[in-house]
Amino acid sequence: MKVTDHIKNANGKTLFSFEVVPPVKGQNIKDLYDNIEPLMEFKPPFIDVTTSREECIYVKRENGLLERKVTRMRPGTVGICASIKHKFDVDTVPHVLCGGFTKEETEYVLVDCQYLGIDNIMALRGDAAKHEQYFKPTDGGNAYASDLVKQISELNKGNYLHDEIETKHTSSFCVGVAGYPEKHMEAPSMQTDLMRLKEKVDAGADYVVTQMFFDNQKFFEFCDAAKAMGINVPILPGIKPVAVKRHMQILPQVFSLDVPEALIKEVQKCSNNKEVRQVGIEWAIQQSKELIAAGVPGVHYYSMGKSSNIQAIAKAIF
Ligand code: FAD
Repeated sequence: MKVTDHIKNANGKTLFSFEVVPPVKGQNIKDLYDNIEPLMEFKPPFIDVTTSREECIYVKRENGLLERKVTRMRPGTVGICASIKHKFDVDTVPHVLCGGFTKEETEYVLVDCQYLGIDNIMALRGDAAKHEQYFKPTDGGNAYASDLVKQISELNKGNYLHDEIETKHTSSFCVGVAGYPEKHMEAPSMQTDLMRLKEKVDAGADYVVTQMFFDNQKFFEFCDAAKAMGINVPILPGIKPVAVKRHMQILPQVFSLDVPEALIKEVQKCSNNKEVRQVGIEWAIQQSKELIAAGVPGVHYYSMGKSSNIQAIAKAIF
């Protein structure tokens, strides 16, 4: 079922959803299942599965020189979506990226999703690959998420890339896109970034999931500004509980966001990461309570591997 239909059917009740990351290749999918299992009690209508960019590795050749190879350490997003859907009887949302894929490869991913009965796609540009300083579109690939949304919208009308195909079985993907309450790091201004978000919605995006934030006020202002810009699709806040002290440095650096003084102080008081984890859980519970009171359609949690903190939050809230 489409995410937007889940929202409609909830009749104003806030939905609980989360995203998971595929295992590193060579590892068993069982660990992922074991992380998901305890969260099923809270009846998530959908689970997102991320996609990671390709990366460079250096392989030693016989002559001793190093050869650069491009590899993907966490492949399998669509397969994992299919297996989670089948095992837990839940909708899954694969993250589809512009970066690293030609439009043809993207079309094949979408066709696979259609055959597997996957109804939702999270359409993203992706970050720069680790070996690049800036994001570079792949030759023959989509440059921005809005281009990817257009490709999906065309497919939903039965328009494949190159071929004249007579189709009576068009896809009907519900499309999610990313929004940034504290502005995307590359955008010159909040207003410009919102205009880009509007372009994604105009291209066919049905809902927005936001980047993580720790200050709800920023989310509320973002929603008001989006509305003023004419963005009327549901906006789901993304929440990540902090779990280790290092998050205080890493998260602002990687995601270009502010951490409120009060949260920094609480984390500084902790003498180990077990205590930080507890602070992260309590902060996320408070954030979630306020967001739900404000009537958000859903709260989307970034689990990033271990789910015990998301379980503790969900127990207190859902
Ligand atoms: P876009 O919407 O294309 O925007 C990227 C930048 O370009 C913005 O600064 C925007 O303002 C600007 N821009 C947009 N259109 C134009 C234009 N026409 N001309 C000039 N500038 C333009 N990353 C992963 O690698 N894998 C994942 O699974 C993943 N999941 C995510 C899930 C969520 C909910 C979120 C919020 C992010 C996720 N990301 C993921 C990170 C995301 O890929 C990065 O934040 C990326 O840098 C931007 O992606 P986007 O889809 O927002 O890009």
